Amino acid sequence: MAGTKKYNYLIIGNSAGGVGCIEGIRREDRKGSIAVVSDEKYHTYSRPLITHLLEGEVDRKGMDFRPRNFYSKHQVDPFLGMRAESMDMDRRTVRLRGESGRKTLRFDRLLLATGGSPIIPPMDGVDLDGVTTMITLDQSLEVRKRLGSLTNAVVLGAGLIGLKTAEALSHVVENVKVIELADRVLAPVTDDISSQMSADAFRNKGVEVILETTITEIRGNDRGRVGEVVLSNGSVLPCDLLVVAIGVRPRTELVEGTDIRIADPKTGGGFEVSDGMATNVDGVYACGDAAYAHDFVTGAKKLLPLWPNAYIGGRIAGLNMADVPSLHRWATNMNSVDFFGFPVVSAGFMEKPKRKNYRQIVREENGSYSKLVLHNDVIKGMIMAGDVGRAGLYLGLMRNKVKTTSFNEYLLADDFGAVHMPEEVKEKLKQPIRIIE
Ligand SMILES: Cc1cc2nc3c(=O)[nH]c(=O)nc-3n(C[C@H](O)[C@H](O)[C@H](O)COP(=O)(O)OP(=O)(O)OC[C@H]3O[C@@H](n4cnc5c(N)ncnc54)[C@H](O)[C@@H]3O)c2cc1C
Repeated sequence: MAGTKKYNYLIIGNSAGGVGCIEGIRREDRKGSIAVVSDEKYHTYSRPLITHLLEGEVDRKGMDFRPRNFYSKHQVDPFLGMRAESMDMDRRTVRLRGESGRKTLRFDRLLLATGGSPIIPPMDGVDLDGVTTMITLDQSLEVRKRLGSLTNAVVLGAGLIGLKTAEALSHVVENVKVIELADRVLAPVTDDISSQMSADAFRNKGVEVILETTITEIRGNDRGRVGEVVLSNGSVLPCDLLVVAIGVRPRTELVEGTDIRIADPKTGGGFEVSDGMATNVDGVYACGDAAYAHDFVTGAKKLLPLWPNAYIGGRIAGLNMADVPSLHRWATNMNSVDFFGFPVVSAGFMEKPKRKNYRQIVREENGSYSKLVLHNDVIKGMIMAGDVGRAGLYLGLMRNKVKTTSFNEYLLADDFGAVHMPEEVKEKLKQPIRIIE
């Protein structure tokens, strides 16, 4: 195929997973050729910071995930602002298209770090000017540009992205309201009490949080922009910015028509991968929001759309692509958030499963809340809200599967620490956690 450059490693996606992969490959292989492709035109940036950029808490430079010389230092050819449109698995090629034209790249090994696409409800009005999702740097910059003209912002969805957006907007827009269909905020990563505490952090700052409600209609104004939204409870809210944040789904459209296996959309619809991040097709790997990961708490494969999971999954994929056998077995739904100075850290089970030998211990005091879920005296879940100082310690016990039997009574004590643990546990916790096996 004359004129088609062949790369040893081709990476689709220039974010946490893609960067992890480059660094994994380069740990072992300094010479192999690498190309990275993204339909976003920017140098790799920290997606979780886009809401902070929106309110001006970080500047554009502070968004860089790696220094500007990252690609040249690692001898990577970046194809930015180019969408990978289709693949030919017989020829092992990917076709790209961007403003600069078209290109076809050949590859030996391929990583799909394509992330997620926002879920947009099929509803009249979603295409109106002033209705957006909050997933990309461009979307953040666009809202930022318009801040001076905004008075009433509505965020649909009280998950991580929705609440981060609402908090940022509350610093720069007069009225911010959050609409959530569930009966609580941050539903998958909190329990009732910690969810209530997080919602209170918003309400105390004047952000209205409306639960068990959704938007049924989006109405435009006479300038063709969003003007108001109608809620399922019948009320009508003035709205000059609507941010839709009801979730992301794995972005897998590139592989349609190939043999690369995607799970049933009913179970999430991500790339199915081994613990080494390999898909079912030889030489093709996937990671991050687009792929499943091994949850070390439940042992199940799960979608874990979190930045560290994407980076580590990418790094493991990179090592395997460079022929260093590695496994990604340390992921779980570990979340760390801080809204208006009220932090919540959670991991593993949020509630005690209704199964034998599970129990939970809880402490609530002075505006703080702690909960541990144990299975046969091994921590399988934790929630720390308010005071999160010991979250790292509990996570260490969780990851090391330490039996807490001899110090159970101290687990939630004020001064709980190494002093309460037997020597062998202290030694175990001193070992660095090998997140890459
Ligand atoms: C507002 C916000 C706040 C967040 N906050 C947190 C947080 O506090 N903590 C946390 O752990 N996680 C957070 N996340 C989630 C975290 O950002 C994601 O888990 C992480 O970015 C996933 O990385 P990834 O590499 O899998 O994919 P992505 O970051 O989604 O990147 C995939 C890239 O691939 C590109 N791409 C996809 N398909 C193609 C194609 N066919 N051709 C070319 N390019 C393509 C996409 O445009 C994108 O640039 C947040 C996310 C958002 C949006």
